Amino acid sequence: MPTNFDALIIGAGFAGMYMLHRLRQKGFSARVLEAGSGVGGTWYWNRYPGARCDVESVQYSYQFSPELEQEWEWSERYATQPEILRYANHVADRFDLRRDIQFDTRVSRAVFDEAASRWTVETEKGERFVGRFVITAMGCLSSPNTPKIPGLEDFKGPVYHTGNWPHEGVDFTGKTVGVIGTGSSAIQSIPIIAGQARHLTVFQRTANYTVPAHNQPLDPDQVRQVKASYPELRRRAKTKPAGIDFDINYASAIETPEAERRKVFEQRWAYGGLGFMASFSDLLLNDDSNKTAADFVKAKIREVVKDPEVAEILSPRNIIGCKRLCVDTGYWETFNRPNVTLVDISDEPIERVTATGLRAKGRDYAFDCLVLATGFDAMTGALLKVDFRGRGGVALKDKWREGPRTYLGLTVVGFPNLFTITGPGSPSVLTNMLPSIEQHVEWIADCLEAMRAQGRTVIEPLPQAEEAWAGEVGRSANITLRSTCSSWYVGANIPGKPRVFMPYIGGFPAYVERCEQVVAQGYKGFALA
Ligand code: NAP
Repeated sequence: MPTNFDALIIGAGFAGMYMLHRLRQKGFSARVLEAGSGVGGTWYWNRYPGARCDVESVQYSYQFSPELEQEWEWSERYATQPEILRYANHVADRFDLRRDIQFDTRVSRAVFDEAASRWTVETEKGERFVGRFVITAMGCLSSPNTPKIPGLEDFKGPVYHTGNWPHEGVDFTGKTVGVIGTGSSAIQSIPIIAGQARHLTVFQRTANYTVPAHNQPLDPDQVRQVKASYPELRRRAKTKPAGIDFDINYASAIETPEAERRKVFEQRWAYGGLGFMASFSDLLLNDDSNKTAADFVKAKIREVVKDPEVAEILSPRNIIGCKRLCVDTGYWETFNRPNVTLVDISDEPIERVTATGLRAKGRDYAFDCLVLATGFDAMTGALLKVDFRGRGGVALKDKWREGPRTYLGLTVVGFPNLFTITGPGSPSVLTNMLPSIEQHVEWIADCLEAMRAQGRTVIEPLPQAEEAWAGEVGRSANITLRSTCSSWYVGANIPGKPRVFMPYIGGFPAYVERCEQVVAQGYKGFALA
């Protein structure tokens, strides 16, 4: 079996699959190394109950193939995890991708050989592959965070992590369950777990904002319309900061009269979904504007949750949209159920997990199983699990000790011929991941093609280009309120992680324009050898 390739791609989620397809189209040899036993990345691992995408399915899909767009039929406004995984498998089959994907293969180390200008990639099983280029497609939210709560190993029952859920599923019927966390994964799974469990206890450290999904089956007429005008939908989406075709209201919330403002919020609430944050253009720029939206949501919580004390605990105190906004189906309502208890641990961490449950705030709670909905070591976690060694044997984890630094979120000084799809410093998690992935994949494939045409074999960003880009990522983050709270965007959920706002917040259109300018100016900011 060959072990020497033009490119080695790490990960067979949406990024890795399309990267493989694109490189093949351009006549490059490539091998994808994937830790899981199947394609799908995040949708392969995150099989917790209620998992579904919060970007509408007709937008959370590939656009590189008009035939694929036409033949695939989404069934719901927001696709479930099983449906998205079916889609990923369909793509793998349709483009015959599996023959170049090696499953059950976790990459542990990647070393750049300066003399040969090639990477050697090692797997946990001790296999070695050589590639001119290494392209990471490992996802931004793919390294599950298991907090170091004392006693976790003492618990006698099963412990499940939402980000690494058993493939056979879990039936909570008749069980007592504890859930730690109230982020997106928890907010999606809690209503379903509560519907099955005898009793559910939710441990909440930070209350979160969520807006209703109003999910529903897709109307066939609507699907026909979308299919007839996909290019137009995609074009519109690419003009929006998040790469999602939201209707953005460019008015200021605080400058809009109260009655009118309320009407706008009510309309967005009734429509549902992440577009709530586009109710007004300054919700993440102006504290007072933000407060109007936050107060609106808190009033909704009080309307739904019958016990005022519980409603108060569920009411977030930070600004809305600072942590990633959640989208739910029946989340607040769940706390009206007699079999659900909410425990506020905002002022005191969980003391310890015990053999039969856990101890928090001086009280023991017992349950049969424990669910950790505790998120991910985002954006850098998966990358730094691999021991990347660049020029002079320098480790990526040392280079990024003070936080990630990249040029365009795609390349790193000292690590030639390494590309990071949706890497830190790119819009990635602040956008619809699919178009962001496609844009990176196409940029990388075009770059490799241009290098081949010019007889170049090594590409590396210049230190001043990386420095300038890091400055721009930081400056744009500081303009918005988004960098102000302790979110995973800034690494605050992982003890000891440097606090750096990791994604580029300047918006998808501005970012794409910048990437295109770099190419038009002869790969400005890069050294090509
Ligand atoms: P998350 O947003 O990071 O939430 C983790 C939760 O666990 C938070 O409530 C956190 O509290 C809590 N937590 C962590 N460590 C804890 C500890 N030691 N003690 C008590 N509580 C602890 O993770 P997530 O819900 O998995 O979501 C991550 C991201 O994945 C989302 O923001 C979203 O981008 C993506 N996602 C998307 C979807 C979707 O498309 N619908 C679904 C799921 C996830 P603190 O807030 O206090 O840290």
